[in-house]
Amino acid sequence: MSDGEWRVQGVSASELAREFGTPLFVYDSEVLKASYAGLRERLHPAVDVLLSLKANPNVSVCSYLGSLGAGAEVSSLTELNTAQWAGIPPERTIFLGPGKTRRELEACVSGDLHATVCESLEELLVLERIAREAGVDDVPVLLRINPDFHTKGSGLAMGGKPRQFGTDVEVLRGASGMLAGLRRVRVLGFHVYMGTRFLKHEDLVHNTEQILRIVSELAVETGTSLETVDFGGGFGIAYFDNEKDLDIDLLVAGINDVVRSFLRDHPGCRLITELGRYLTALCGTYMVSALYVKQSMGEHFVVTDGGTNHHMAAVGVGSFVKRNFPMRSLSRGRDGGSREYTVTGPLCTPNDVLGRRVLLPAVEPGDLLGVERSGAYGPTASPGLFLSHGYPSEVLVHNGVPHLVRTRDRSTDLLVKQRLIDFTADPEQTYEYREQELRK
Ligand SMILES: *Cc1c(COP(=O)(O)O)cnc(C)c1O
Repeated sequence: MSDGEWRVQGVSASELAREFGTPLFVYDSEVLKASYAGLRERLHPAVDVLLSLKANPNVSVCSYLGSLGAGAEVSSLTELNTAQWAGIPPERTIFLGPGKTRRELEACVSGDLHATVCESLEELLVLERIAREAGVDDVPVLLRINPDFHTKGSGLAMGGKPRQFGTDVEVLRGASGMLAGLRRVRVLGFHVYMGTRFLKHEDLVHNTEQILRIVSELAVETGTSLETVDFGGGFGIAYFDNEKDLDIDLLVAGINDVVRSFLRDHPGCRLITELGRYLTALCGTYMVSALYVKQSMGEHFVVTDGGTNHHMAAVGVGSFVKRNFPMRSLSRGRDGGSREYTVTGPLCTPNDVLGRRVLLPAVEPGDLLGVERSGAYGPTASPGLFLSHGYPSEVLVHNGVPHLVRTRDRSTDLLVKQRLIDFTADPEQTYEYREQELRK
């Protein structure tokens, strides 16, 4: 391989490909640590940082962040089990989500979590009943608010609209009687999440200010205590040419100011920010191999072994315009970008395009290409079963050693889930036969 080959902590792209195959997600623990520690060191000590497992639920990624001090925000039983397996203590874990099942609520009740985030008054009552049945006296909850204000600047804004998430401020205002009647469930405070992909520190600081104002008012109006307030997160990462990364210094300075003034009125209150993308996106590279290089009507194409099925966000499925995530040749280094290529995946759909007209050094079959900033919302947010390729391997490089942290799906892993009916068997089992029998 030529000089300029991409390396993670000294491990080259070709070594990774040889050992683990492609397509492959590669996570760099040093970058992961820098993302977390850079925030942790600056942020006011009253604010806890939780990993939203939704963005990257790999148990080793969670465990590493947990070892650095991060907590976990989980939204399913398996995410809860992942956080536990990763060694993140329950008192640093919260369970959130609008559709928790009875089994999930039972796990919340028995799990000694920091809090269950209740998304409706109806859910509170179900939780109270489950706690009573289980003989558990003290189930801490945060009430998720559907805020009545809206903030611009998010890729996916949450406030000021009818939503399945949380409870409307108006409804909560009228609920103090009901809240006072809870015996097993204890309201610790509130939770607000304003949306994802915020890239302007002013918007995030403004959100935090609004949220802390609203929860202070609501606590008085509803007679609840304020021991914990989760003010969401949604810190963005720049993906596209027209975007710029957050200014983390200004962001944290602004949030710390707001937090300090809130704490003057609410000394001892714990605050939470829950972050998925911000903590995990930068550490990940989606590595694919060029299978074919070809031309169509004057355009140069590289067809690779991975695409939408592992990295729907980079492909841009669901967005109006196709914009490119940052991409590079991992085999040949960055210099001498020589040609524009449209880099596609292997799927039989024209949308399966990782990058349109990406400037790359001349690509040959066998070259490794990387989609950068891909540690968040990758495989688990993609239709990995589409065309039955299955999910790719994931590798975490730590202290210069690559560790396989998820094995690639093999064909048998996928087929073993299916059941083949024997259509030549007993005719009495056919639908038509049973229909006739019923009509008799
Ligand atoms: C998705 C989600 C997160 C994580 O969002 P990021 O933008 O990835 O940080 C946090 N909280 C809630 C309630 C979410 O739905």
